[in-house]
Amino acid sequence: MKSADLRHTHSKKFLPIRGMRALLCVLALVFFCVSLAGCAPLCESTVYAMGTVCNLRVWGDGDLIKKGEQILLDSDQLYSWRRPDSEISRINSSSGEWVSVSKETFALIRTALEWAERTEGAFDPTVGVLSQEWDFSGDPHCPDEETLANLLPLVGYGQVELDESACAVRLAKGQKLDLGAVAKGYSGQQLFDLYQTENAERALINLGGNVCALGDSPKGREWTVGVRDPLGETGSYYCTLSVRDAHVVISGPYERWFEEKGIRYHHILDPATGMPADSGLLSVCVVSQDGTVADILSTAIFVAGPEKGLQFAQDAGVDVMLVCEEDCSILCTPGFAEKYQVMLKDGVEYEWKS
Ligand code: AMP
Ligand code: MG
Repeated sequence: MKSADLRHTHSKKFLPIRGMRALLCVLALVFFCVSLAGCAPLCESTVYAMGTVCNLRVWGDGDLIKKGEQILLDSDQLYSWRRPDSEISRINSSSGEWVSVSKETFALIRTALEWAERTEGAFDPTVGVLSQEWDFSGDPHCPDEETLANLLPLVGYGQVELDESACAVRLAKGQKLDLGAVAKGYSGQQLFDLYQTENAERALINLGGNVCALGDSPKGREWTVGVRDPLGETGSYYCTLSVRDAHVVISGPYERWFEEKGIRYHHILDPATGMPADSGLLSVCVVSQDGTVADILSTAIFVAGPEKGLQFAQDAGVDVMLVCEEDCSILCTPGFAEKYQVMLKDGVEYEWKS
């Protein structure tokens, strides 16, 4: 046999076995890497920030929890009007004067003002004077008509001035900012960005009912998120949604309320009247890739009501699901039920309308 033939025979006989071995090695390595990647440990933490209980669950490096906690504590420190040393309090106590703030606070205030305009003032970060008067998380009470009449002229996002080059904000004299309707959503977005950039395998963040779901659930599919039943007990839900890489933000009158002389007053205020919004909605659930926008819109839609609310959602390109007070019907943007595999819980009194 010629050497060429020998080589040929040799290669025919042995290379497939070597090839198989190599292939098996590669497969084993891939399997090893995949199983390693699928084994990131769960790290968990609960922090009280922004007036609510915040729960972080991250599958990834242990440091990610500490970094996440810091984001929440920083947000509380910057944006809470209740903390006398926050940046928002500094602005509020100097209304009528220019106040320099951090770039981050400036950007959030600018975003809030832009959306106040886009939602025709249904969301308005200058409701601060009303929030302080109603004092929902302190000593809540319903202000009398005269007090409201005096405060209402101070509610108006159009009176806030911004100086981009100096990173400064000026409120009209007596005005107060309240970023309570956006700060949690913004922090959720920051956490989401952090965990995505740092390659967390998955994360489930719950900021007092605002849920951010990153990646696949441990079952290898979308996360199942319960939507709070506005007429049910704390912790009850009326439907579940399936989401991945999304923020689910819900606004409802059940979050914070008190009763006075037999009347129930809740914390989402109509900037036009100074009273709790009464637009015919029991609950607004927004699903979006942008946590900040989701939070702003959940509040704005609750104030604006179903018709305008659906319009705001469609203009902003976000998905929403609303529960109407009058007939317990559920309205949503087109395709919502299919996109998020909405499953109504047995026995709930709500009915699909769209
Ligand atoms: P959310 O739970 O996101 O709907 O936000 C409600 C919180 O935002 C309240 O506790 C107030 O601090 C603040 N808030 C209430 N009404 C409004 C409003 N119309 N626009 C902006 N912020 C509001
Ligand atoms: Mg909100």
